[in-house]
Amino acid sequence: MPSQVVQSAAASRWGHTRGGPHLPRRSPPAAKGPDRNDRSAFTIVELLVIVAIISVLVSILVPSLGKAKVLAVRALCATKLNTIRTASDQYAAEWRGFFPYRAGGSYLPHVFWHGGSFDLNQTFVRKYLETERQNIMFCPGDLYRARNPDAPGWQGPGGYGYRYVSYIYYNFHPAEGYGNWLTPEPYPDMATNIRADTKYPLWGCLTVDKHWAYLAHDCPQTPRTPLGQNATYLNGSTKWTEWDDMAPFWDDTAQDFYWPIVD
Ligand SMILES: [Zn+2]
Repeated sequence: MPSQVVQSAAASRWGHTRGGPHLPRRSPPAAKGPDRNDRSAFTIVELLVIVAIISVLVSILVPSLGKAKVLAVRALCATKLNTIRTASDQYAAEWRGFFPYRAGGSYLPHVFWHGGSFDLNQTFVRKYLETERQNIMFCPGDLYRARNPDAPGWQGPGGYGYRYVSYIYYNFHPAEGYGNWLTPEPYPDMATNIRADTKYPLWGCLTVDKHWAYLAHDCPQTPRTPLGQNATYLNGSTKWTEWDDMAPFWDDTAQDFYWPIVD
């Protein structure tokens, strides 16, 4: 009888001597049914429990991995902004406390491209960051794909001003109604320049509402509302601001630029 064979093998494995019929048995005799069926039924239950545990673990782990990735990219973005602010500080230290100059009469925040006197590589970026713009001047978030023509999967230009950099240079005072272009050197007439206000962000992760799509840290060019923005301040802090705490500060009827609400 097969069940008898299994029983004997098990008994000998656990160190019992092969005994006669008088040896006490730990499990009921064959009347209940073959041992083999009992064992595989138990294994199926075990399997189901394991599958259930794994399902729970996966459902907990996968979203938290996604969340961790979002936070890691956000932190890297902040680190880059911090580096840019430090370079701006070095520039200001060399130019009597004035930050890179903005020329022109609009609130238009700076957009940068290759060539001419607005080429960032020819200004303080090369001098103080000692690196190519690709390493520093691009947010590592989804915006990267929309702004950097060298990025794999580049989504194409959204206008010539909307590429080559994904950070925004805010240095202006809204009350002054004054914005200046960045030039390789400060404007000769320093009296027309304005000192940066510590209240306002100096650099930020570009956030634009083009009235049909957003361009932001986590929005390459989508109708989805951005989660928020990184910005770096003259007091040395760099922080993330949620979308609800941001406000548009310029509008040419086609697009709004955003920055953290300042009171
Ligand atoms: Zn960013």
